[in-house]
Amino acid sequence: MSIANPMIAAAALLPRELVRLGAHPADKESTIREAAQLLIAAGCIDPAYAASMLKREALANTFLGHGVVIPHGLGEDRHLVKRNGIAVLQVPAGVEWNPGQTAHLVVAIAAQSDAHIAILRRLTRLIQDNSRLVTLFVTDKVQDIVDALSEDAIEIASATPATDLAEHFDWSVPYPAGLHARPASRWVETARSFGARIQLRFGDQIADAKNLVSLLQLGLRFGDRVVISAEGRNAGSALIRLKAVINSITAQEKTDTEAAARRASAPVLGWSPPQVPAAIAGIGASPGLAIGVVHRLSVSEAPIPDHPVPLAQGGELLHQALNVTRLQLKAVADDTARRLGAADAAIFKAQAELLNDTDLITLTCQLMVEGHGVAWSWHQAVERMAGKLSALGNAVLAGRAADLRDVGRRVLTQIDPSLHGGDGSSELPANCILLANDLSPSDTAMLDPQRVVGLATAQGGPTSHTAILARTLGLPALVAGGAALLDVSEGVAAIIDGQNGRLYLNPSPADLASARAYIEEQQAVRAREAEQRSLPAQTRDGHRVDIGANVNLPDQVPIALSQGAEGVGLMRTEFLFLEQGSAPSEDQQYETYMAMARALDGRPLIVRALDIGGDKQVAHLDLPHEDNPFLGVRGARLLLRRSDLLDPQLRALYRAAKDGAKLSIPQFKIMFPMITSAPEIIALRAICERIRNELTAPVLPIGIMIEVPAAAIQADALARHSDFFSIGTNDLTQYVLAIDRQNPELAAEADSLHPAVLRLIRLTVEGAAYHGRWVGVCGGLAGDPFGAMLLTGLGVHELSMTPRDIPAVKARLRATDLATLKLLATKALSAETAAEVRALDGAAQ
Ligand code: PEP
Ligand code: MG
Repeated sequence: MSIANPMIAAAALLPRELVRLGAHPADKESTIREAAQLLIAAGCIDPAYAASMLKREALANTFLGHGVVIPHGLGEDRHLVKRNGIAVLQVPAGVEWNPGQTAHLVVAIAAQSDAHIAILRRLTRLIQDNSRLVTLFVTDKVQDIVDALSEDAIEIASATPATDLAEHFDWSVPYPAGLHARPASRWVETARSFGARIQLRFGDQIADAKNLVSLLQLGLRFGDRVVISAEGRNAGSALIRLKAVINSITAQEKTDTEAAARRASAPVLGWSPPQVPAAIAGIGASPGLAIGVVHRLSVSEAPIPDHPVPLAQGGELLHQALNVTRLQLKAVADDTARRLGAADAAIFKAQAELLNDTDLITLTCQLMVEGHGVAWSWHQAVERMAGKLSALGNAVLAGRAADLRDVGRRVLTQIDPSLHGGDGSSELPANCILLANDLSPSDTAMLDPQRVVGLATAQGGPTSHTAILARTLGLPALVAGGAALLDVSEGVAAIIDGQNGRLYLNPSPADLASARAYIEEQQAVRAREAEQRSLPAQTRDGHRVDIGANVNLPDQVPIALSQGAEGVGLMRTEFLFLEQGSAPSEDQQYETYMAMARALDGRPLIVRALDIGGDKQVAHLDLPHEDNPFLGVRGARLLLRRSDLLDPQLRALYRAAKDGAKLSIPQFKIMFPMITSAPEIIALRAICERIRNELTAPVLPIGIMIEVPAAAIQADALARHSDFFSIGTNDLTQYVLAIDRQNPELAAEADSLHPAVLRLIRLTVEGAAYHGRWVGVCGGLAGDPFGAMLLTGLGVHELSMTPRDIPAVKARLRATDLATLKLLATKALSAETAAEVRALDGAAQ
């Protein structure tokens, strides 16, 4: 592909007479005048354009870097350009362009449109090939310069007629989803390992096999027939190797499609559409049905400021940003390969490939040379190219446009970290179902539930924090919808079913009517539950369970209370760290804890100390990369190593407890995450005690999360050192079953109702009882009405959940009695599988 006009042959753009070797201009001005003279003589420009070129120098620096400069006139003087052309002045001894910048190759550009981009692109490449560049500074052969600057133009010109190269073979696309970015990037990788020129022809369209965007632009679908051809060094072996690689991908492509089809044909519980519209199947992550229009999330829709900087500085900044992003994507790909497998990791390899697109980089350089800032130029270039891809009306390419924007955003953040964040939620259309490749917990946390009615992500797992937040927000959500999700067009009407993980597209009026009726029916059930939500969770025979809410911010407390929460059983403080670009200060934290306590107005509050690691990574903490962060320095392990994080948090908490006591705000409880052993809790208690003494603050109950098998098994020992336990069933399940809580492939098996998990909960309750401690549960199982029944039967005293789960849990517990629940728990403990446990649900109702 090319942005340049393919009809411009190299010779037309740079004839030999426009190259002058061995020039000795006295200074910058005479250099520009001499180069302009060449263009005037060739009839490319009006003599007045020379003044325009000099004016440009006063406004922006045209030093491209590495001794290359690209003087050209101002945009408003384009009418002075008679025809496109460039002139090259070779200055072996160099001429000072700006203080500290010496030009050896002066490439003066006369361009009416963007025709000179091919040359700029070549210059960009040349700048990276320093040894070749340096020879051009002193060569005595005009042809060397003509060749060096013309190669791309020749490629472009010669690619125009759709003919095959010397060696070739026919191929019909066997990939069910067509040639999308993941397989295409494997092709590019293979093609690039050969010196031969390799191309694909589809009808009369030609694509360079070494260029990802070019390949994707063919828009190949299953069954399309193409000719793959090569010429040059090792052309034959290159084709044999490429054929082997492209065929080897077929099996994986088929497996992926089958997995998606299996998900799509899984039985649906609750509502199902009468006329079964086209649907994307993922994994249900937050229950509920909603009707809306699709909106694809563009992470930063805020305008990008245009702050020009000297060109050399800008080029360096861009170069660095691209390098860092490449490394970042490599780290993400490596991490994904370990967690999800090579096939998924290839998504990021494909994204990284987009960074090598010279058109993109050149366009950015050109905009910079025109006097725009780096961030602005990069953003424009990404948007223009992504716009072109989207405009081709091909779903696969539209998906790649999204990838390009995704990667573009990463680079943008590197260029200017202040451009990070911004989820564009202020500009979201009403009633939208948000589609995204993935959402970070902080993206999700910032969504406006007034506008967003549902969430669907291509990646992610149901126990990820994003899914948990979606439940907190009461938004139906599906995760792991796969790449197909990103191909859905903006504005399409859809129904999202967060229970079964389906996104139905373009539903018929009958489907919509049925969905509306179901939503109304569910609302009626909710209304009945709501009537009882302020009543205690007390069984018919008088056994009471405390009900808490999992709430992270003070302004969420009123909603939780209105849902029937009796306190906050889990405040995840890591969100204070995730939501801003730096760690919150002690004072900021103090204010938040005080506000939380005030909002609760005398009700209990359990504040969990920072739980960073695993799926909760905080970039600004600069923690070392870990191969397996879920088994790494996470939670309490990190707190014990980072007093700079722990001490301010504990000081803020004890200060709040002290000042709260004066205001008769009740005591806080402190809870530590990811405890595995008694020495950890002993060490943390000692730190609490030191800080409490320093502040002369009141004693606070100190509890621990039970989320690691070791803690559950040794609950009796840990109970000696803890005032209470709260079981984190999300992590406990992942560690007991050895299933990464984010792995979409295994999500259905990561079931907290697995009897092994339930047995550890029983052990925890028994261990706590040994020392008279109470036990809560704050993981997802607590908010599942059937799970809540089992947990109560197992002897748990408190259940803390996302606020919207409270009414259903209370209603369920109020409708039964403890003896039934104990029996239910006994049966569940002796079940063989999670499915068997789940089957007890029907019997229990
Ligand atoms: C859990 O693991 O169940 C839990 C409540 O902690 P988090 O989800 O924050 O890791
Ligand atoms: Mg946890």
